[in-house]
Amino acid sequence: ITSKLPKVSTTIFTIMSQLAAEQNALNLSQGFPNFAPDPLLIKLATDAMQADYNQYAPMQGILPLREVIADKIESLHGAQYHPETEITVTAGATQAIYTAISAFIRPNDEVIVIKPAYDCYEPAIEVNGGVPVFVQLQGKDYKMDWSDFRKKINPKTKMVIINTPHNPTGKVFSREDMLTLQEILKNTAVILLSDEVYEHIIFDGERHHSASSFPDLASRSFVCASFGKTFHITGWKMGYCVAPKELMREFQKVHQFNIFCANHPLQQALTSYLKNPEHYLELNAFYQAKRDLFLSGLDGTKFTFTPAQGTYFQLLDYSQIIHEPDHDFAKRLAIDHKIASIPVSGFNLDQTDHHQLRFCFAKKDDTLQKAIDILMEI
Ligand code: PMP
Ligand code: GLN
Repeated sequence: ITSKLPKVSTTIFTIMSQLAAEQNALNLSQGFPNFAPDPLLIKLATDAMQADYNQYAPMQGILPLREVIADKIESLHGAQYHPETEITVTAGATQAIYTAISAFIRPNDEVIVIKPAYDCYEPAIEVNGGVPVFVQLQGKDYKMDWSDFRKKINPKTKMVIINTPHNPTGKVFSREDMLTLQEILKNTAVILLSDEVYEHIIFDGERHHSASSFPDLASRSFVCASFGKTFHITGWKMGYCVAPKELMREFQKVHQFNIFCANHPLQQALTSYLKNPEHYLELNAFYQAKRDLFLSGLDGTKFTFTPAQGTYFQLLDYSQIIHEPDHDFAKRLAIDHKIASIPVSGFNLDQTDHHQLRFCFAKKDDTLQKAIDILMEI
């Protein structure tokens, strides 16, 4: 067999979660909560099944859900998306990202990807014959290099992918970053794919600057969101994508043959749940308390860090402990110390190893306390 994706193997999230299970280690590797979602959401889902919403939903998603999504975006970002033509409910953000890329990327089209990057972008580009072009965030603090980014835009550039708040670094694009991006893309036909799955997890009073709130970006953007991240239901695999109607029309041509429609009873549940803004607006404070608990415990360790500005991931630097490749150190922590994390080098360009591990703090407080106790001993 000639593989279309020869470089792709099992993802590091699967590898580390499996290792954690085998080793009976605390699993702070793959990004998912170890606490239950709101019982109300579970009840809404079971109610929807009992009310027999058990057959296909409309291809784009049920209209009432698209309407609440439109209201939410308008109230948070002042942007208007028409529920009939500009919103699609998807099987998680992963499917939205894959669909947007498939709908537009032809062989040899270039797509700019900012490294370190979440792992689902590159394979989606390559399986469609596209060419990822990388911009590396600079140094251990992952500073955005807009001049390098600007240089890489050329007539072959079809799409640019950004992710804010950013997995795995926890960095957030400021308003100035978004304005710079808007200025660079002006007068080009480049499509922006903005992965905003951590839009509701931002700390220290900062705010999320969605591509949808910058008109010259919004007019060329797919903005992707994940209910999994926002409502502690990563296993439901539910999300959505919004874009201006000319872009969304092409997206839906792929979507209707890719999955046709997302899970119907869960759409019913999410419609009711999303009507109460508290359900997502309280998330910043909820996760800030977890980040702060985790970081205050780490003060007494030899790990160093820059506090995450957003997401539920924290990078910890272990250069003061040992000089060992991050994959080896992560494995050793899981096997010998019973704590699993994600080595970051795999997400960097040329596997640059800053001796950093990513820890997921979407965990019960007593799990975070156990993690601190282990990290104190290292
Ligand atoms: N983008 C980023 C940056 C992620 O961390 C994840 C993982 N949740 C996804 C997309 C995929 O989201 P979903 O689980 O909704 O498919
Ligand atoms: N988004 C999750 C993370 O970064 C992983 C989801 C997956 O395993 N595909 O940990």
